[in-house]
Amino acid sequence: MPNHAPWLCHLLETVKSTVKSPPVAWIHDPYSVSDVDYVKECVESCKFDTEELQKELYDGFKAGTVALEKKACPYGSVLVLYEKSTPWAFPYAAVGRVLQLFYRGTPFRLLFFGSQRRRLLPLQGELVEARHINGGYTYPCNPQSIVIYRREEVVRVLIHECYHASCSDPKNMDIPYVEADTEAWAEIVLCALGARGREDNFRRLWKAQSSYAASQAAQLSNLYNVKGPGDYSWRYTIGKLGVWSRLGLTLPVRVRVFRGGEGASLRLTLEMHGVEDAA
Ligand SMILES: [Zn+2]
Repeated sequence: MPNHAPWLCHLLETVKSTVKSPPVAWIHDPYSVSDVDYVKECVESCKFDTEELQKELYDGFKAGTVALEKKACPYGSVLVLYEKSTPWAFPYAAVGRVLQLFYRGTPFRLLFFGSQRRRLLPLQGELVEARHINGGYTYPCNPQSIVIYRREEVVRVLIHECYHASCSDPKNMDIPYVEADTEAWAEIVLCALGARGREDNFRRLWKAQSSYAASQAAQLSNLYNVKGPGDYSWRYTIGKLGVWSRLGLTLPVRVRVFRGGEGASLRLTLEMHGVEDAA
């Protein structure tokens, strides 16, 4: 990769100075009745979680098999639900750093449903839909509205939602393009965090992640007929490659096409040890 563009140097410098600052301090904060009401309201009003992963956790909470944990830090608070039988080593350190990067005065309110269901491809040739790929939602310009409902890729999804919550959606653009843009940036920031802002580490992570993304895009195009913004999964896969290209990032010249069909992973990013410590 040639010398990085000024925007990328700036991002890496920002991440480097952020991770050098003292770790974000989280304190235990007992949840209240209004917190439980908020969880219930999210479960009942959510249109995005079509597999009802949130409801599964909330029902478990009511039945006593799911724990609810609340913690607070200087940048906001989190509510975390997980099955008591499989405790979640929630990545507080990484989540704290993401909030530190995005915080602009309004505290974040985050709700995490720790479903262990992974993103999986449907039968080859079937439509790849929201239920196969999504894992969170928020409302534009509202840092108080972030909800994430899978353990898998929790940090990547958080960065994606923080962009929406921070009024970063491009204006006058159709939703698939807004999502492609948001996801493209989320993965750049994830790699920058994984690299702890170090250029050599970023270069290595970026090469691996962009190769992975290109292989997955080819898999969806070849085996699942995902071609353009009218196909749902385009926005999180093929679409982001165009954004990276416009930003001047290096993309792989030769692409190894992933061959997996039904049951193969549809996670969007490589596991990055220390950043994506989701499970
Ligand atoms: Zn989005």
